[in-house]
Amino acid sequence: MFDKVLVANRGEVAVRVVRALRELGVCSVVVYSDIDKNTLAVQLADESVCIGPTPSAQSYLNIPAIIGAASSRKAQAIHPGYGFLAENATFARICADNGLVFIGPSPEAIEMMGDKNVARETMMRIGVPTVPGSDGSLETPEEAAVFAEKVGYPVLIKASAGGGGKGMRIVESPDQLESLFNAAKAEAQAAFGNDEVYLEKYLLRPRHIEIQVLADTHGNALHLCERDCSIQRRHQKLVEEAPSPAVSPELRARMGETALMAVREVGYVGAGTVEFLLDTNGSFYFMEMNTRIQVEHPITELITGTDLIKEQIRIAAGEPISFVDRAPFEPNGHAIEFRINAEDPANNFWPSPGAVTALSVPGGPGVRLDTHLYYGYTVPPSYDSLVAKLVVWGTTREEAIARGRRALDELKIEGIKTTIPFHKKVVDEQDFNAGLAHTDYIPTHEQVLL
Ligand code: ADP
Repeated sequence: MFDKVLVANRGEVAVRVVRALRELGVCSVVVYSDIDKNTLAVQLADESVCIGPTPSAQSYLNIPAIIGAASSRKAQAIHPGYGFLAENATFARICADNGLVFIGPSPEAIEMMGDKNVARETMMRIGVPTVPGSDGSLETPEEAAVFAEKVGYPVLIKASAGGGGKGMRIVESPDQLESLFNAAKAEAQAAFGNDEVYLEKYLLRPRHIEIQVLADTHGNALHLCERDCSIQRRHQKLVEEAPSPAVSPELRARMGETALMAVREVGYVGAGTVEFLLDTNGSFYFMEMNTRIQVEHPITELITGTDLIKEQIRIAAGEPISFVDRAPFEPNGHAIEFRINAEDPANNFWPSPGAVTALSVPGGPGVRLDTHLYYGYTVPPSYDSLVAKLVVWGTTREEAIARGRRALDELKIEGIKTTIPFHKKVVDEQDFNAGLAHTDYIPTHEQVLL
């Protein structure tokens, strides 16, 4: 095991990694930007290093400063969390060049999965179903039109370098194609510096089902069941649950095995997630693979009794997965995650940074709160709006929902607006309770939810 690991992230995930390191008996070094000098992760870590001014381009994305901090503090490895440099193959390579272990997959695996269009082609080659669409990237609206006719409208234009729902446009009819094609290309260029786009048939009311996978350097690869992340706003997840109300043991086994095909094909090592869309006929299609830990990993931890962050660190240190003998996993109970963002659901989810003037946190059986908030902390406007993840577990889905309702009532955050009122409406909504949510759930339930 390592003696010292640097955490190249902020917010709740930095706290989560520091906690895992403490439990493993590993010394932690947290890096921070100017505005983050009083964050909880900095307070909890063994050591901390300022790596630059507030803008992330000059701090959390500043590779020389991060490598310099790791070297000067004699860290042996870097945990990138999620976001920032977590899926940056160049960063993973620079870590290796400097004798540092990047806690994640190889740069080659990141590259193969990082371009969604290349990943899609790779999956097609090994026989994994993908959503019908274009063969490769598209140069012109005319080319797009050919594939759109072939698969039938509506279609979705997607950025090859996409993430966070950016660079995506739904095209309902041929007359919209040219302008939306150009808009998607321009947005992709602005967001990712890469204007490559491709096209997929737009599935109607599918579910977003993803499989958590884990592989080590000893040849072990296993999956840890699915997460249902269908409740999304503008293609961004807000509520996740595991297991999915729509996945039978038989479907779970098939999707799990399909995810492991992807893992084997790219020689994947570490924790990863293979994302699928499940249509209303029960067919599933590969969408993309995220080559990092995900925000919603705690729900998987709760239904499998595992610690995925500690496992990532063990794997990076060359140890085998500690629970190989427990696979294949059967979900134990039911877990739900509510993303608490500093946003105002009554005002179009407008960001709401500011000082936390009161904080009261839930507890009791089956409740976990992963947060970097504390009384008196000021949420800066400069970064992602996620401020807490309320995660509940119950022996049944009904118990998990009741517990979620109870814990949401106990959670009080004042001074900033949050998504708590939105979640309170979700847990009381009929279709959610019946397990019927799909990726169009929020737009089709606006009357009740917003
Ligand atoms: P990103 O990487 O930007 O998050 P994804 O490819 O993961 O983008 O897709 C995000 C969400 O967009 C999905 O969870 C789903 O709700 C929607 N989506 C993506 N592709 C399709 C499709 N072909 N049909 C319908 N919805 C889709």
